[in-house]
Amino acid sequence: MNAFRALAVLLIAVAAAGCGKSGSPPVKGPQPEDLPVYQVDTGFQLPASRTWEKAERRGHLVVGVKEDQPYLGEKDPSGGRYSGFDIEIAKMLSASLGFDPKTVEFRTIASANRETALQNGQIDYYVGTYTINDNRKKQVGFAGPYFMAGQSLLVRRNDDDIKGPGDLAGKKVCSAAGSTPYQRLQREFPKAVLVAYDTYSVCVDNLLTYQVDAVSTDDSILLGYAAKVPEELKVVGEPFSKEPYGIGVPRGDNALRFALDDALEAQEKNGNWKKAYEATLGLSGVPAPTPPPIDRYPAS
Ligand code: GLU
Repeated sequence: MNAFRALAVLLIAVAAAGCGKSGSPPVKGPQPEDLPVYQVDTGFQLPASRTWEKAERRGHLVVGVKEDQPYLGEKDPSGGRYSGFDIEIAKMLSASLGFDPKTVEFRTIASANRETALQNGQIDYYVGTYTINDNRKKQVGFAGPYFMAGQSLLVRRNDDDIKGPGDLAGKKVCSAAGSTPYQRLQREFPKAVLVAYDTYSVCVDNLLTYQVDAVSTDDSILLGYAAKVPEELKVVGEPFSKEPYGIGVPRGDNALRFALDDALEAQEKNGNWKKAYEATLGLSGVPAPTPPPIDRYPAS
């Protein structure tokens, strides 16, 4: 851990503990009693899926996630427990596939490594702010979408220069390598000076220490960082893209993809999706939206 990262982790920890400067109130974290309890579908079978069969032999699912995105996918540094909306999606789908959600083995995989992790069989599926697009569909499959985000900008609270993507000329803008926001900045805002790291939390550390002027990625991710240190950070402007979040699966495992689509639909209908949202991502300030329609595209 470098010095900047250590400083920011400390800043966030201090704010989260509620003993920040000028007596800032404690930031509410996900409360376990607010989370839904997912009913395990014990009789579930999916012999047509190689991935499911492998998990069945292993006895549990291995799911790729993020570990540093507040209210979405976060790993508690002491106990190593994962929490957040993406984690709840992963768990509710595990229950639908017949595996006790308590047994899910989470693996942190950065944005740039998701396709490889799915192709190598390192993970069974991936739930981590993963935008569905045609380019990625050549390499992996996507169930969902289960949420709609949009690209936005995070700046320091005292910054009055950057109000939207039109103000980025000559500014240092940080995003994650291999992400769609990074690619969009490169393509549509060539006057911005781009900085790439593996994770957004490193970008946020760089923003807090004046190494960069803005962080750009999905509004859902940025609102979480801003909610953790509202006295230091703010999200500005309107979202300038559509980022439908999918569940990444190995390409060609259509049986698994369709089973996840069915499971997601059922979990949206029975109220678990909304309850999970409200106990996690809802804490960054946006009320539960209607989930986007599922795109059950033909077998490929
Ligand atoms: N949703 C965007 C993407 O899939 C940005 C978030 C991320 O890097 O996970 O690239």
